[in-house]
Amino acid sequence: MQFAIAVSAAVPALADQRPERCQRCGSPGFNLHQRATTTLKDPLALRAPVLRFICKRRRKTTRLYPKGVDGAHQTVAMRQASVVLYWLGLSYDGVREYLGRFGCPLSKATVWANVRWTGLVGHRHRLRSDSGSLLVQEGPGGPVARLRVRGRSYSLALEPSAASELTILAMAHQPETARILYRRVVEVARRLRLQVEPAGAHENARA
Ligand SMILES: [Zn+2]
Repeated sequence: MQFAIAVSAAVPALADQRPERCQRCGSPGFNLHQRATTTLKDPLALRAPVLRFICKRRRKTTRLYPKGVDGAHQTVAMRQASVVLYWLGLSYDGVREYLGRFGCPLSKATVWANVRWTGLVGHRHRLRSDSGSLLVQEGPGGPVARLRVRGRSYSLALEPSAASELTILAMAHQPETARILYRRVVEVARRLRLQVEPAGAHENARA
C-alpha cells in the first residue's frame, strides 16, 4: 500500500511588492535598495529573488522574500516536507540525513525548529519508528528512507512530482502497518493543510 502527500513547491516571482511598515520604526515609506537572489537549501528551487528596501526615516534595510520562501533560506515546501518526514518516523537527525541526500543541507537544529514551528515536537500521535532502524538507500527514483515500526518495515520517499510539486510517498506492505501509516499520513496532512493523494495514485513509483 502506498500513500502520497502533495506539497506545493511553487516559489512565485516577486512582483512589485513592498513592505507595509518598517519593523523597527513603523514608518511606511521605503525606497527599493537592491534586487538580489538568495541561495536556498532546496534542490527544487536553488535560488530565489530577494528585494531589499531602505526605510526613509531611519535608513534601516528590510528584506522581502517571495511567498513560499522564509528568511531561513528554506522554501516553505522543504520546511513542510521535513515536518512530514519527522511525523512519519524519522528523527531530527534522520530528516537531516535523508534530505542531505538530495543536496539539501538542513541542520538538525533547523529540522527541530521546523517541527517546533508547527507545534508538533514530541507529539504523541507521531509515528515512532524502531530506534536505529533507519536505512537510506538509493532507489530507482532517488533516495528512499527505509524504517521499521514494531519490527515491520515501511519506507518514505520524497520526489518531485511536477514542476511545482513535491510528493512524499509512504509505503508499507504489511496491512496493519499500512493502516497505521495511513492514519498518520492523514493526520499530518490535516494539521499542515496538505493534500493526501488517493492510495494507488503512485502505483508505478518505487516500492
Ligand atoms: Zn524604519
